[in-house]
Amino acid sequence: MFVADNLNVNSEGHLTIGGLDAVDLASQYGTPLYVMDENLIRDNCRKYVGSIRKFYNGNGLALYASKAFCCKAMCKIAFEEGMGLDVVSGGELFTAMSVDFPAERIVFHGNNKTRAELTSALEYGVHRIVVDNLTELNTLNELAGQMGKKADIMFRIKPGVDAHTHDFVKTGQIDSKFGFAIETGEAFEAIKAAISMPNINLRCLHCHIGSQIFELDPFDLAARIMLSLISKVKLELGYEIKELNLGGGFGIKYLSEDRAIEYEKYMETIAGVVHSECERLDIAVPRIFLEPGRSIVASSGVTLYTVGAVKVIPNIRTYVSIDGGMTDNPRYALYKSQYSACIANKADQPFSEAVTVAGKCCESGDLIGEGMPMQKADPGDILAVFATGAYNYSMSSNYNRIPRPPVVMLKDGQSRIVIKRESYEDIIRNDLI
Ligand SMILES: *Cc1c(COP(=O)(O)O)cnc(C)c1O
Repeated sequence: MFVADNLNVNSEGHLTIGGLDAVDLASQYGTPLYVMDENLIRDNCRKYVGSIRKFYNGNGLALYASKAFCCKAMCKIAFEEGMGLDVVSGGELFTAMSVDFPAERIVFHGNNKTRAELTSALEYGVHRIVVDNLTELNTLNELAGQMGKKADIMFRIKPGVDAHTHDFVKTGQIDSKFGFAIETGEAFEAIKAAISMPNINLRCLHCHIGSQIFELDPFDLAARIMLSLISKVKLELGYEIKELNLGGGFGIKYLSEDRAIEYEKYMETIAGVVHSECERLDIAVPRIFLEPGRSIVASSGVTLYTVGAVKVIPNIRTYVSIDGGMTDNPRYALYKSQYSACIANKADQPFSEAVTVAGKCCESGDLIGEGMPMQKADPGDILAVFATGAYNYSMSSNYNRIPRPPVVMLKDGQSRIVIKRESYEDIIRNDLI
């Protein structure tokens, strides 16, 4: 019934998360509450770090895509597990810097970085800046020159593989706001331009083909396309690009019927493709970067809410209203993302209905899910929504001036707050009259 291995039911019939009683956590910290299991996060980090060691002889770096869930504690965990960090804004970079995350393990992404962001990336000395377009390339060359530095960069390439949906498509990828297209010759021209720039050091090509991907084929195809571009650059320009960033996007289990990709299988297959293609194309095996985000943190997260009103509309639907909603989890409102849930204090009882879980915002679309299988809900129950560790806290808002919930991290049977609950004072902190 549960989508993660750390979820269970205790003798009181309560849901447990990492061995801790979810009902107790809700009463200790209040609701809504984000709960995250540090043991699970660390296990996931180890799978990627271990795979780089095993399948690429350690010649690579697994970067945690911090946009999935970014805070000081998470940066520290990623660091301790030997991961690098992918940041996409000055704010994420600042968070990493605030815990002294080593710059030589940070990669800076983004399709429209400001001059201020590029400057701080250069000042901090991040490992690689991922350049998205020619405007940015020129700006970076100019800024690096002014600072007497040489910027180590990657190019974001559109490989022409788009796997944002279950059926991946091999065309239409030109229409993306991210990166340089291969088909139009844009990528090749940009590479030529970068090579000639005095303050730019082009080291790596990057691609990221989508998110929540379950099949291996699109990753396989993207790797082949990227390696053939590296080969073309070597043959035609005599320039060797010695690094390849294959991005993130590994799917996770939100519903019990989801079959998540096995990392080991992915790594073994793609490493096989990389090695055989390099031999065929007569290029050196590049240093590999990976950028998992969701697959590091999503399944470790559970959000706990208190049920308020239960509104039964005969022959239509039942609304179960909770004390949070789109402000702490906007993903159903944004993309109709599916979640599974249960009543934490009735976790030993079977699902008996299918309900609509509604948030408390002034917005009809403020839902966590529709037709969600669940035990019969009553006011005062604790509702647990699973696999909320990625793109929930990081996408949260203060709409309706609702304070953000705290994040409690569980580790080895203990719990601690890693992000405090926002107060009403926090909400008006920047208001002036
Ligand atoms: C979002 C993103 C990732 C992480 O994607 P997940 O689906 O969370 O693994 C990695 N790289 C880039 C460039 C991204 O935009």
